[in-house]
Amino acid sequence: MAEEKKILGITDELIEKCVRCGSCRQVCPVFNVTHEEPSVARGKIFLADLINKGKAELDREAAHFFNLCTTCLRCAEICPVMVDYEKIIISARARAVEKFGLPPEKAAAVKLFSNRNLLETVGKLTSPLTKLFTKKSNSPQNRLLPVNVPKLGKVLLPQPSSKPFNDRDKVFPAKGKEKGKVIFFTGCMFNNFYTETAENVVKVLNALGYTVFVPREQFCCGAPAFFSGDLKSFEKMKEKNLKGWGEEKADFIVSACATCGHVLKGEYRELEIPVKELIEVLYENIEEIGKWKLPEKVKVTWHHPCHIVRGQKIPRHYPLDVLKVLQNVEFIDMPEADNCCGMGGSFKLSHPEISKEIQLKKARNAESTGAEAVLTECPGCVMNIAEGLERIGSKKKSLHIADLLAECLK
Ligand code: SF4
Ligand code: SF4
Repeated sequence: MAEEKKILGITDELIEKCVRCGSCRQVCPVFNVTHEEPSVARGKIFLADLINKGKAELDREAAHFFNLCTTCLRCAEICPVMVDYEKIIISARARAVEKFGLPPEKAAAVKLFSNRNLLETVGKLTSPLTKLFTKKSNSPQNRLLPVNVPKLGKVLLPQPSSKPFNDRDKVFPAKGKEKGKVIFFTGCMFNNFYTETAENVVKVLNALGYTVFVPREQFCCGAPAFFSGDLKSFEKMKEKNLKGWGEEKADFIVSACATCGHVLKGEYRELEIPVKELIEVLYENIEEIGKWKLPEKVKVTWHHPCHIVRGQKIPRHYPLDVLKVLQNVEFIDMPEADNCCGMGGSFKLSHPEISKEIQLKKARNAESTGAEAVLTECPGCVMNIAEGLERIGSKKKSLHIADLLAECLK
């Protein structure tokens, strides 16, 4: 008989799997900054256990501790008994949201990203203002506030686009012999901010022989709502997306954002077409990419997004092998390349100072490589690493891998 779900909407069995060994303390980026037990998975699971059994109350302080986490899943990866940490933390957050609502900064993020018209209007209005009132960053498509913010220092914003990338249904035919048809799930970051990277993703897929369909009727994947525990808003976003493009005829859906890919693969179970992360498509086509050459020699390093290596469990050697076959590229390993960049979706908004400490560690590790560019495959990581590099005074660029690959196709 299935065990009863309790106060947090999960079974005691799920929680009691934790043997309290404390291995997660060695890898948790938040614990590494705070050194406090409630920051780490073990502390949160202990708290969840008490609440689930009615021995402690789900109060605002408990809700705060459940939010003190970037959902990087490093704890889940190292855990010797494979505790399903993501399920526990999302369930706990969901019950906290039911009781207290979303914290204001998370509510604002969910409201903005779940409303396409609002996001597009904000983009239209702020695009020219951002160019006027902010400074150029070393990383393209990003801007810096003209003045430093107390306790944070330099603050970077992605340049909003005055026109969304998916302003209408678009079809981009394959170059040469067609290998397949794909849907590019652009999500909100590519549609409204990193539109040049979105173009580059399409160019790369076309060059590899894929015809790319970009449906107008696609929305934010719902990740900001899902990871905040606002599961009602998440379900609405999912429903809209499935209605918009779920029936399209394609061989697979491509995501070029680690978090979108993780959410689509894990939570969009109704999808009948497989989802692939761009890095998987690149790896499948590594022979072809081996023929590509950058116009000039460049030294690069790689940051592994949490939601690619742990969320989607994509092998770490995929991006490294792809970069190593590219001509005119020198690849340099980054220390702790798979540590979180500190972004954690709205974690950066809710805990800016802890997020900054994690981010600076990433930027210093990147700086130590001597590479000219830090590459990754997630717009959120691109943005946060770009800001970290600016904060430590580095001249390095933070780029999406599609931006580098598109250079080979000019
Ligand atoms: S590593 Fe796993 S079992 Fe050990 S304390 Fe952390 S969550 Fe519990
Ligand atoms: S998901 Fe990451 S930040 Fe959260 S408890 Fe686990 S290791 Fe720490």
